[in-house]
Amino acid sequence: MMKLVFATGNVGKLREASEILGEGFELVSLAQVGITEDIPETGKTLVANSLQKAMYLYDKVGCDCFADDTGLEVDALGGAPGVYTARYAGDDKDFNKNMDKVLYELEVLEGEARMAESLGLKTKKVSRRARFKSVITLIINGEKKMFEGTLEGVIAREKSGNGGFGYDPIFIADEFPGLTLADISEDEKNAISHRGKALRAMAEWLKDRA
Ligand code: IMP
Repeated sequence: MMKLVFATGNVGKLREASEILGEGFELVSLAQVGITEDIPETGKTLVANSLQKAMYLYDKVGCDCFADDTGLEVDALGGAPGVYTARYAGDDKDFNKNMDKVLYELEVLEGEARMAESLGLKTKKVSRRARFKSVITLIINGEKKMFEGTLEGVIAREKSGNGGFGYDPIFIADEFPGLTLADISEDEKNAISHRGKALRAMAEWLKDRA
């Protein structure tokens, strides 16, 4: 049984990772190793944050561990919210406010494009294309290894669905047209999600080495 500490305080994430990694792995949460403080995330990229979190954890516990960092990139917003995904509308990390901000910003851009068009300018349609990206840093026997996963889709015009968390109610994955991630089941989401892909890539790599 391989024991890995996962840099998360979120029981949902811990359960999802345990299911994906399957038998042979024992996942341990931050609380179980006595880490109660927020792990610093001050990097400017997902890669930097995932590395920072994993190294912080490794320094504290000194055993095999991993950390993930996820961001939503919206093309029309120049890749925002990106690394600021969790706190896009403020430090209270309010999911509803975050989603409202993304929806509002896209509406403003679309309004501007309509205005310019009505005044005679040729304008390009505002793209709602977006993607979630997850980066995992694994530290095993003191060595670092990274894995990533991406989920492509578009930002919906309005929120829909009661499932999931974060930006799920406004994200329509290419695999489920017309439905947001909050409209589909947890299993359907895990099968296609950014984090699911990154975790499965890590699981494959670990199994090859076991
Ligand atoms: P974290 O790096 O996993 O903490 O993710 C940062 C932020 O991205 C979260 O606070 C959520 O707002 C958002 N996020 C991450 N994964 C998902 C997802 O699967 N669906 C919707 N939002 C997500």
